[in-house]
This record gives sequence, structure tokens and C-alpha cells, in this order.
Amino acid sequence: MIFRQLFDPTSSTYTYLLGSDGEAALIDPVFEQHQRDAALVRELGLTLKHTLDTHVHADHVTGAWLMKRAFGATIGLAAAAGVTECDRALSDGDRISFGSRHLDVRATPGHTDTCLTYVLDDESMAFTGDTLLIRGAGRTDFQQGDARQMFRSIREVIFALPDDCRLYPAHDYAGRTVTTVAEERAHNPRVGGEANEADFVGYMDNLGLAHPKKIDIAVPANLQCGRPEPDDAPGDSEWAPVTWTYANVPELEPEWVAAHLDEVTLLDVREPHELSDPELFAIEGVVNIPLGQLKDRVGELAPDRPVVAVCRSGRRSAQATVILRRNGLEKVANLTGGMIRWRQETLPVTD
Ligand code: FE
Repeated sequence: MIFRQLFDPTSSTYTYLLGSDGEAALIDPVFEQHQRDAALVRELGLTLKHTLDTHVHADHVTGAWLMKRAFGATIGLAAAAGVTECDRALSDGDRISFGSRHLDVRATPGHTDTCLTYVLDDESMAFTGDTLLIRGAGRTDFQQGDARQMFRSIREVIFALPDDCRLYPAHDYAGRTVTTVAEERAHNPRVGGEANEADFVGYMDNLGLAHPKKIDIAVPANLQCGRPEPDDAPGDSEWAPVTWTYANVPELEPEWVAAHLDEVTLLDVREPHELSDPELFAIEGVVNIPLGQLKDRVGELAPDRPVVAVCRSGRRSAQATVILRRNGLEKVANLTGGMIRWRQETLPVTD
């Protein structure tokens, strides 16, 4: 099984990718991290079947709708949220399948009345949302929160999982990534040890937390599964069918570049002698600025023309795109696979 834990530093949110036999489910995607997460799904060769939110978040906007647009993934959210935009209104006992694996849905209300915990089929992992955090628990003072209900959700549902079941929360603010049932039962300062319901409720009622900054934006957006207003959708690049890699490099396929040579500046960042390499040669009309000189010579490039960077294998030119963007150029892409791939596709070169 494929398992990846991703982090959004702005909201301290964890997103989890689970894959099996070429299919995947993504838990709690973050709107602003769509490009990164979509690239990972593509690079791992997965078909994204589902996005699942653990609840209606108040601190960030979900990336569910963007994932549906990109991959056709169904959007799953608690039925209790009453959201018409979602594809699967989930309740306790439902099952989400991907490849040969599945997640079981458990209702764990308390932080909100829409909180779900997703438990992997063999109970080796569970995704607890904001119900149980590492050495903590989500707040219960807004969004139909209820400390008594949360105490029961944690004690009766999450703590009923096997001792060594690894628990993955929706957030952590102190760099912690994972815990287990046994660990939280022993050490959670709110619900662990000998704490009873009254202790827990007393603790939760006296947290004195500030109103979440993003709640007025995030909750309404999440009730639409993160579907943006038409003008706010992070568009695909308008100038070219750029795809972003997980390494955050904008790339273009050789075929597109070959068909649009007159619309872009082709920047070859190899050393000058490499352009006459008899195996690779160069593409007609390139501007040659070796990578090591690029930051001092960016001014030589026409400022309003898109730039496609090229090198031998596409590695140096990927770095060139970083330098170009750092210097204020926006329409920038890397030629995927460099001259090696260009030649493999028998596209024309100088000779
Ligand atoms: Fe939350």
C-alpha cells in the first residue's frame, strides 16, 4: 500500500494519500496545495477515486472540488453536514474502497457534528481529523461542538481500536506526525490516564481560545466542497498546457513546444560547446545562456515572451525555471526530458 503524509504549513494541516493497486483516496486536501498534491498523484501513477474530508473545516478551505475537477474523484463528507455538492454523504459504517483496500467510516462527533474518523481495513491506521490530536483534542466551542460527545467519541470509538493502531490527526502545531492508541490512552493530557468525562469537559470549557481567523471564509467555502467562484479558480496556465511536478517545476511536453516555437523564447542553458554535441545538437533559434550565468543575464531575455528552458536531460533547465521565476518572469516552463527526450521524439534540430 502507498501511504504519504503531506503538510500545509499555513494551516498546519495534514493531508493523507493512500493508494492500492493503482487507485487512491486523499484525506483532507488543502485548496492551496492542490498543485502539489495533484502532481504527487500523477507521479505515483495513481487514479484518484475519492477525496474525503474528516469534517467541515474552519481553518482552511478543502481541495476536494479541485481534485474532482482534475481527476473525477468523488467528494465524501459527513451526511450530517447537509452539503448538496458532495457525491457521497457518509455515515457511520460506510466503506470507501480503493484498489484492494478500504477505509471504514466511523462517526466521531464532538469537535463538530460532522466529524468522521476513517479507519483502514486492518485497523493499523486511523485518520482522526480534529477529534483526537496528538496529545490533544480539537476545540469544542463552535460549529456544534460538544465536549461530552467528543469524550465519548474518543473513548468509545478511537480508544476501542487496537493499542498499536497508528493515529494520524488533521493537524499538528508542534511538528509531531503520528501517535498510537496506547500512547494517547496513557499520555493524552485531556482524555488519557484517569480522566473522566467531567475532567475532560472542564478542561475543554476553559481553553480560552481565540476565534479562528479563517472561519468566516473557510466554513462557507467548505459547505461548497471548496468550489471557488468562477473568477477565483486557480487556472491552468493560459499561455500553455503547463503541468507542475511534485518538485514544483512547471513543465511542457516536447510536442507542444515543437508546435509553438514561434511563440516562446527557447532558452538553452547548456555550455556553448554542448550545443554542437553530435548526438543531441540544439533546437533552431535557441538563446544560449549557460545556467551558471543565467542570474546575471536574465535581462537579455525578452520580458513579455514566455520562456521554455532546455538542457541535456531537463535537470539544469528545471533549475533555470527557478532562477527565472525568482527574477520576476512568470510565463516560464521546463522542456520535459530536455534534448534527450526531444531527440527520442525525432523532433527537428540544427546540425
Ligand atoms: Fe477542525
